[in-house]
Amino acid sequence: MEATATLIGNHVPLIAASGIERLRVTLCGAVQGVGFRPFVYRLAKELGLAGWVLNSSAGLVLEVEGEREALERFLGRLEWEKPPAAVILTRETSFLAPAGYRGFEIRSSEAALEKTAGVLPDLATCRACLAEVGDPADRRYGYPFTNCTLCGPRYTIANGIPYDRPNTTMSGFPMCEACAREYRDPADRRFHAQPIACPHCGPRIWVEPESQDPPLRRVAEALAQGQVVGLKGIGGFQLLADAGDEAAIERLRWLKHREEKPFALMMPSPEVVRRFCVLSPAEEALLVSAAAPIVLLRPNGAPGITPNVAKSSPYLGVMLPYSPLHHLLMREYPRPIVATSGNRSDEPIAIDNAEARQRLGDIASLFLMHDRPVARHADDSVVRLARGRESVLRRARGYAPLPVHLDRCLPPVLAVGAHLKNTVAIAVGRQVYLSQHIGDLDTLEARGAFERAIRDLCRLYEFEPRLVACDLHPDYASTEWARASGLPVAAVQHHHAHVAACAAENGVRGEYLGVSWDGTGYGLDGTVWGGEFFLAHDGGFERVAHLRPFRLPGGEAAIREGWRAAASLLWEIGGDEAMPERPQKAVLARMLARNVNCPVTTSVGRLFDAVASLAGVAHENRFEGQAAMELESRIGGLITEEAYPLAGEETGDWAPLVEAVRSDVAHGVPTALTAARFHNALVEWIVRVALRVATPQVVLSGGCFQNSYLVERAAAALEARGFSVYTHQRVPPNDGGLALGQAVIAAWR
Ligand SMILES: [Zn+2]
Ligand SMILES: [Zn+2]
Repeated sequence: MEATATLIGNHVPLIAASGIERLRVTLCGAVQGVGFRPFVYRLAKELGLAGWVLNSSAGLVLEVEGEREALERFLGRLEWEKPPAAVILTRETSFLAPAGYRGFEIRSSEAALEKTAGVLPDLATCRACLAEVGDPADRRYGYPFTNCTLCGPRYTIANGIPYDRPNTTMSGFPMCEACAREYRDPADRRFHAQPIACPHCGPRIWVEPESQDPPLRRVAEALAQGQVVGLKGIGGFQLLADAGDEAAIERLRWLKHREEKPFALMMPSPEVVRRFCVLSPAEEALLVSAAAPIVLLRPNGAPGITPNVAKSSPYLGVMLPYSPLHHLLMREYPRPIVATSGNRSDEPIAIDNAEARQRLGDIASLFLMHDRPVARHADDSVVRLARGRESVLRRARGYAPLPVHLDRCLPPVLAVGAHLKNTVAIAVGRQVYLSQHIGDLDTLEARGAFERAIRDLCRLYEFEPRLVACDLHPDYASTEWARASGLPVAAVQHHHAHVAACAAENGVRGEYLGVSWDGTGYGLDGTVWGGEFFLAHDGGFERVAHLRPFRLPGGEAAIREGWRAAASLLWEIGGDEAMPERPQKAVLARMLARNVNCPVTTSVGRLFDAVASLAGVAHENRFEGQAAMELESRIGGLITEEAYPLAGEETGDWAPLVEAVRSDVAHGVPTALTAARFHNALVEWIVRVALRVATPQVVLSGGCFQNSYLVERAAAALEARGFSVYTHQRVPPNDGGLALGQAVIAAWR
């Protein structure tokens, strides 16, 4: 593709997206001191790619710039032709804007290269171990805790650094002579594999209540009978049920107090996944990666999975077995099963046996226990493919505690994140270490997990914070903790933190237009923000545009009940008469007329709720973002450029849009078209603001950009006009990524 310069707005020349991309790769494992940098240098030269490679405390970091096809060839050969002594355990990739590199260089290693990269994420079972587990002649035949230096648990068994067996939860299992020989032998695949174990010396499994049958056969039997099974996995307990058994899934929902949120599935192999989902090669690569996350996939409509699994979600969240225990279970029960976090609604997952009996005892009728302690919880991670790239939506097992590599040093900041989907982060030089997903801080359990995660990160990295970054919201549990910590506090505006996180992980420098859209966040003026355009950099922002403010009658209640937002918009347009007929109509009208308990908001998330209700798609949110998700899914495969009018730039006026939706609904226009016109209106508004502000870099962040229609359309429309568009890859667009932005902003101050 040819690069073209366009003149727009304030005569800022913009270079249209060309075919050149920059790829950043971070590798962990045995990649330092094994001739890896010269190998990368030769490979890049051979493929005609520009860039650099260096050793850092995060591992080996490299960037290559060139055509997408050459970059993909580079990635393939990196794996297949690496030096014999090199072992790649984790590989994280991000696509960045081209930097215009000329030539390829080996950069000098970063100063203060510390061996802090000691603890890696938990890695899915490798092929060699899997073969042993399936080989009747092998001494590890059928052994659920088989692992080697290439695979197995790490982060969830590490009690401290250095990462050595006495510092792991394997310390209570003295190695037998055979294991000790393998552990000491430099030629062995298990040389210094800290969790090494075998049936003689390692952990064991059992079921509760007791059974005469072998444990996994008993689990399979229970699943076949429609029971819910609690299984102690890698990062804590999972709840399992047969995904084709409507009654079992319904009971699981009821017991778990999870009425609507989709459940994740585990399937035995990619072949089985293909039976139920549309699976691209890139998505398959995510499924089979060492991180083995839950990948959001489009179902193909095949029967066999009850609709109650996904509920209103247009996706199925699918993962493959990632520990020998899961593989053995799938052999015993080779069908799709629901495998959801072992918790009640949004609490952290249970990790120890006694805790599971107590917290999950009335959900699971059978437990599969084991005696290897879990040092810290790690939920299954969630990713999806967006704009052809991996996008992490929940960062936990397989990803935590890999750091985000920045191109500058930060002072020691601890960032404590948001209130929902909480994660915390510490800045160590050029690396920001994010904790695993902790969850919503509404319960005592969650607050305990939050405090443990902070202590844990600080201890693992021998880190002493000099500053705590938190949200501006005074009532967040994380903010309260920061204020009580006794350390200097930097309160960071929510939506600024969102776009700063996205800018940081994409290496965006200087000023950018930050589009920060989500459900709710505390605004500088004390109102609820969520439809914001900032001209921003790490040090500050100017609010250049936002949604026209409207009111949320009932406050919190209006977040759960989206029809209230709809009623409020209609009231603004046409008074009492325009409001929908509902039992509470008179009460709501009085609240609005007297302006009682009606907080003001500019939230696009709440506008989604309102439009979903007006269109008759959903009137409430039983979980965060539900109505918006349903509205997106209603578009289905419809392709249209039509858009509702969303007037104005600086203040996006929803009034003409709401009128148009109402008229369409009255005229029986199909919901797919209504939904598409609404999404397209938002995209057009983004483009209008971007053209007016005319800064070449645009950053899209906030929970609304989990919507793949919105993010793909907005990115394409902006790129077509010459903007460089940055979206989330390694860190979630939702509040799970907030801590990174907080750390970056606080460090600047
Ligand atoms: Zn292995
Ligand atoms: Zn042994």
